[in-house]
Order: sequence, then C-alpha cells, then structure tokens
Amino acid sequence: MLKLGLHVSISGSIDKAVDRAVKLGCNTFQIFTRNPRGWRSRELKPEEAEAFIEKVERCGIDPVFGHMPYLPNLASPKDEIYEKSVESLIMELNRCLKLRIPYLVTHLGSHLGAGIDVGFERIINAINKGLSEVNGDVMLLLENTAGTKNSMGGSFEDIRYIIDRIDEPERVGVCFDTCHGFAAGYDLRTREAVESTIRKLDEIIGFERLKLVHLNDSKGGLNSRIDRHEHIGMGMIGEEGFRNILQSRLGKLPLILETPVDKRRSDIENLNKVRELAGEL
Ligand code: MN
Ligand code: MN
Ligand code: ZN
Repeated sequence: MLKLGLHVSISGSIDKAVDRAVKLGCNTFQIFTRNPRGWRSRELKPEEAEAFIEKVERCGIDPVFGHMPYLPNLASPKDEIYEKSVESLIMELNRCLKLRIPYLVTHLGSHLGAGIDVGFERIINAINKGLSEVNGDVMLLLENTAGTKNSMGGSFEDIRYIIDRIDEPERVGVCFDTCHGFAAGYDLRTREAVESTIRKLDEIIGFERLKLVHLNDSKGGLNSRIDRHEHIGMGMIGEEGFRNILQSRLGKLPLILETPVDKRRSDIENLNKVRELAGEL
C-alpha cells in the first residue's frame, strides 16, 4: 500500500493539519510548523503539541514531515541573513522534537552569486551548527533543487559533497523532489530513465539515505532549471512518467504531493490520480 500524503495547512491550530490529512485519506503528511512567511514565530504551547501528537497517534499517521519556512537561506553569503537562517534551523529542529516529528526537510539555499564554494562552506557549517545545538531524534532531509541560477543542491554530487562533510552524517537524509530532479536534468519519463536516475542516486548518495519523495509534476521541461510544480500527470513528466516512478523503488517510499492549488484539479483528485497510476484504484 502506498504511503501517500500532501503538504497540509496548519491554519487555525496545528492539530487541524491532522484532520485535513485524514479527511483526504492520507497516511502521511507534511507541514510548516509555523507561518512560513516570517522570520519569527511564537513558541509552541505544551497543550498545542500534545493535541497534535495525540491526533497523529490516534489516526495512525506515520511519519509526519516538517518543512523549513521560506525565508531562511542556509547558503547565504550575507552574514545577517545567514545567522538568522541558522537560528531558524535550530528553532525548527526544536519544534519538530516538541511535536515528535521525525523528519525536517530543508532546501540548500542560494549562494546569490558568491560562488558554489562559498555556498558549500556556509551550508555545511549551518547544518553542523544546527545539529550540534539540538540533541534528539529528528533527521534533517536535504532536498534536491531544480538547479536554478545560484541554487545549491541541484545535483546528486552536490548533495553527496555536503553529506560527506557533516559531523553527524547519521542525522542527515535526503528528500527527492521529482519536479526539481526533472528540471535539473534527471529524466523520469520512461521506465529506463527512472531506473537510470535511481541508479545514479544510489551510486552517488546511497538509496538508503532517501527517506521521502516529493511527488510533483513539472511545468518546465527536462533540464529546464525551472522550479514550477504541476498537477500529477499534467506536466512534462506526464502520466506515463508517474506510472514508472510509482512502480519503481521510489513508489515504496513516503510520497508527499506539493501540487498547485487551482481550479484545474483538487488535492483529492491528485491523490486519486497517484493511486490510479500506482494500480491501487
Ligand atoms: Mn521543498
Ligand atoms: Mn519539494
Ligand atoms: Zn519546488
């Protein structure tokens, strides 16, 4: 059976995210633990965390994924932004611990033109600092990016380079976003292409590090370096591509949709499309 969910809103109170996921028939989901558009957030009250944990357990949802907010840039060459980003990473790791969320997904940021070496140094230091400040069982998942200008982590080699320099590598895993991967040049349309992409991931990073797939179609073409998500099967990866993805080893991992919110297709229709292409409907 698929481990399938989507990114859900925490609007109202954080435990309401669980209700939303359950209503959509999800057995896993992803959240921002706070408003993703600001730098600061108020502390979680113990009763808020309790309500969330209790609902997750009661509904048999496992696992839950947290996602870093939008503003932090762990590769930023600007000291002030960088310091605030590391602080955000520490805060998010702590919030995940409080909420008993086992995985936190992070983007690798942008070096903003300062160069890839500066970016690597920043991000490696950021992760090492973040993990050293937070003791507990939350794994940081590094998400591959679409390889847009100045962005870090568009290739498997770059992700491997970072992991190799982490002091506690057992606390770091990987999230593979299909839209980003396709846009960065990893073909996912045919069975052979999916197998070849998985083989590269396995050889360069190690398949066992992969803990999550962000299942998104892509508005941009192969190697377009455009990060624009599309409904499942309606983009350049297409239905056949997702059928092949879902029937591969990737389909056995937790799958989280980050598909657009618009009139063309609802969340439930996207989830059902995935079930259909996986042969479950
Ligand atoms: Mn992401
Ligand atoms: Mn993603
Ligand atoms: Zn994206």
